[in-house]
Amino acid sequence: MDYELAVIGAGPAGVAAGIYAIRAGISTIVIEEKMVGGQIVISPWIENYPGYENISGMELAEIFKNHLKKYVEPHELEPVKDISKTEDGFEVGTSKGKYEVKAVIFATGATYRMLNVPGEKKFSGKGISFCATCDGFFFKDKKVAVIGGGNAAAIEALYLKNLGIDVHLIHRRDQLRAEKTYQEELERKGVHIVYNTVVCCFNGDQKLESIELKDVNSEERRTEEFNGAFVSVGLVPNTELAKDLGVNLNDNGYIKVDDFQRTNVKGVYAAGDITGGARQIVTSCAQGAQAALASTEVLGKQYPF
Ligand code: NAP
Repeated sequence: MDYELAVIGAGPAGVAAGIYAIRAGISTIVIEEKMVGGQIVISPWIENYPGYENISGMELAEIFKNHLKKYVEPHELEPVKDISKTEDGFEVGTSKGKYEVKAVIFATGATYRMLNVPGEKKFSGKGISFCATCDGFFFKDKKVAVIGGGNAAAIEALYLKNLGIDVHLIHRRDQLRAEKTYQEELERKGVHIVYNTVVCCFNGDQKLESIELKDVNSEERRTEEFNGAFVSVGLVPNTELAKDLGVNLNDNGYIKVDDFQRTNVKGVYAAGDITGGARQIVTSCAQGAQAALASTEVLGKQYPF
């Protein structure tokens, strides 16, 4: 056995799981395909993680990473390729090697949902982006559409507006899903909100030039010029590896867990965005901690509380 526990993913859930596991005396490997922080890395700012009134996602990710490194060196840039059941645990195969472990915590989060409309793939990186912090600067003093109505879309829109960009938030319904504080800020900052409207296609030659939109009530279509578009319509859980182990998902495609973050497969736990629910940093951290502590049950260790 190389390690007792493999934590797959190092967003807030994976980081908390790693810290709690090591502190509970569990030998642990934390494997991350990109860098520590997960989705928070691309959040322009975070204002609802207790202890931090206002912090950029990048800064918080750095704090998480340093905290984790106090206990365990994360394996960054090491995608997990496969996981299989062994006689007394699991074998985790990554881009760099194979690890025998007794328990696994899936904290693999979720990735951006696409609209799946014509032109979206063609103009991705050529006017269409999924991350305002990464690409917003290129659209300074220009006109962009943000598509979506949730917290993420509101935050993207506000970030872009603060860069002096003419922002049009396009949402398919007649009300936003975003928290009230964000809605108020959108109004205060003068973000144009276009309700009841969907994207039919993205048009252009070498780069995005216009978007064909449809009013869902009147069915009327119109083409409007935009220099850029930020698609922010939610996340799709990264459950492929878990499914390979026979882990059950709920109706929305997220991993089903009990109150202790156990899945239906003994020795396999899940935490964070991959389990759906509130999908907040604070809830992800809590679930990661709980999963790590629960894993003591298959490791022959005493639950430390
Ligand atoms: P979300 O809350 O699931 O919202 C997705 C939005 O995209 C919804 O408004 C949805 O419309 C819309 N949408 C989905 N599919 C669409 C499609 N095919 N075409 C057009 N519109 C579509 O996702 P999110 O905003 O990415 O946030 C993900 C999670 O992270 C959420 O739990 C959110 O609360 C959390 N988060 C929290 C914060 C925070 O500061 N608290 C910040 C960012 C993210 P409908 O409203 O019609 O369903």
